[in-house]
Parts: sequence; structure tokens; C-alpha cells
Amino acid sequence: MQAVKVIAKNFLNLFYPLHCLGCETALEAMNEFHLCERCIASINHNAMPPFELDGLPVLAYSACIYDDALKELVHSFKYKGKTILAGIFSKLMIDYIKDNPEIVNVDIITVVPLHRERLREREFNQSLLIANPIAKEHCIILANTLEKMHKTRYQNELPKSERLKNLRGAFDVSSDTEIKDKNILLIDDIMTTCSTLGECAKTLLNGGAKSVKCFTLARGI
Ligand SMILES: [Zn+2]
Repeated sequence: MQAVKVIAKNFLNLFYPLHCLGCETALEAMNEFHLCERCIASINHNAMPPFELDGLPVLAYSACIYDDALKELVHSFKYKGKTILAGIFSKLMIDYIKDNPEIVNVDIITVVPLHRERLREREFNQSLLIANPIAKEHCIILANTLEKMHKTRYQNELPKSERLKNLRGAFDVSSDTEIKDKNILLIDDIMTTCSTLGECAKTLLNGGAKSVKCFTLARGI
């Protein structure tokens, strides 16, 4: 079966050659991540220890640094529909967990939700796409535990002082999954000022979660 797949992919590659989503170099048909080795190597891993979110008993972990190399890729992923990049993003996070196994010592994995209108525009929740392989790898339930109650402005369009105000009351606990006394891992793509993660973590703790940890693909520097 594998051989058939390889032949089919090589055949397709004759007509639709695969190019690296980072630098457009031609790639072999079987390239799993649609990225060349040089572009993968240019992603900077995060060596800083986890830190506590402002005023909350919540540790925040990040696998990578959100610098220029990753910014371009994340932009293609979120705004140009290159969802295939979820594969390399979750792999980087799974690799990071190998050195920080306490991250997945939880009952439920959940993600920062999008408002339903934003979800309709984008057609996917980027955090759900990267959380899914992590949940599968560690056999942990992936569930929607939060809802975004009103549409907020993009955090990156606002000055730091406005970001918390923008999010106040934006999230609520979803009725889909019981979170009472559960240890929860909250996954998102990027952490910059921590206000979104802080607001979501607070909502989960106020809703009865026993503990919350946050884990993102990358953090700003
Ligand atoms: Zn490349």
C-alpha cells in the first residue's frame, strides 16, 4: 500500500511539483511537511523555562521563538490556508514535550476558541489543528471547553494597554465538556502578551477546573 502511495505522489508531482512553503525550493513528492530542511532548521527552539501567567497559578510553556522565520510560516498557516503546516508545528511541540513531559500530565486538552463568525471566515481553528496530533500522540481527550462570546478585535492590532480590555468577558465555559476538577492543558498557536491565554485560563479556573497549564507553538521575545 505504501509503495502505491509513493508512486501516486511521484506521479502527481510531475504535474503539480511540490515547493517549500517557506522558500519555494522544489521538494521531493514525499515531503511530509511541505518544508525544506533549511527552513525547518531556521525555526528557533525555545530554551527559556516556563513562566507563571500574571497573577495566576498557571504555567505557560512554548516550544519555539516567534521570530521572523516562524512569523512567515504562521501567517501562511492562519491567513493563507496552508493548513498542511499544522504537521510541522505539532511535531515541534511533540518534540518539546519529550523534554518537558509534565506538560501532558493532564485529563483534557483544549484550545483557545474562535468566535463563530471568525471561524466561518477562516474555516478552521488553527489551534485545534495543531492540538489534534498532540492529543492523539498522548491519548488525551481533545475537547472544546471554552466559547468566545463576542467578536473581539485582533490582539496584534491593539496596543498592550488595550488588549486586556478588548478581551474582558470575551470567553465563557462551554457546556460541551465537564471541566470540574479536571487538569487541563490549554493550547494556542502564539503567545505574545499572554492576555488571551490568561483570560481563557481564568475562565477555566473560575468554571471549576482543578488546574490549567498553557502550551503554545511559540512565544514572542
Ligand atoms: Zn524552504
